[in-house]
Amino acid sequence: MNIAKDKVVVIDYTLTDKEGQVIDKSDSEAPLAYLQGNGNLLPKLEEALEGKVQGDSLKVVLPPEDGYGVREESKVIDVPKEMFKDAGEIKPGMRFQARGPHGVDLLCVVSVEEETVKVDGNHPLADVTLHFDVTVREVREATEEELSHGHVHGPGGHHH
Ligand code: ZN
Repeated sequence: MNIAKDKVVVIDYTLTDKEGQVIDKSDSEAPLAYLQGNGNLLPKLEEALEGKVQGDSLKVVLPPEDGYGVREESKVIDVPKEMFKDAGEIKPGMRFQARGPHGVDLLCVVSVEEETVKVDGNHPLADVTLHFDVTVREVREATEEELSHGHVHGPGGHHH
């Protein structure tokens, strides 16, 4: 069976940067299962997998524009410290979720000043060229329930 829209696909993958450092990797005991064509993975990665079959291995290189975006300095902002008053002690490197005009953003604390906290709303993988090594373990039909939810249930997918 070929990978096509609404098929369940089970993959092993390793994500590295251009220096070959591993950023993320699926567990050999627990591969990733996703529903093709439903926005579960990066669109360009799903595009590269389209038409592949069980046992295929491929390398996919995605520039930042097709990955997690290009870093924007305008996303580094100073916010009043009192916004964090319920969060306890604030330290550089801490991450917070903030509700903004485009949904939930993940903010990373850069530095803490007297009155303000400098936060960075860029994705941690902004500006990174993504190198995916993917092996297709399985391709199967989705169940009605999976199709209606837009994601895979069971091993490697959602549990709810
Ligand atoms: Zn579901």
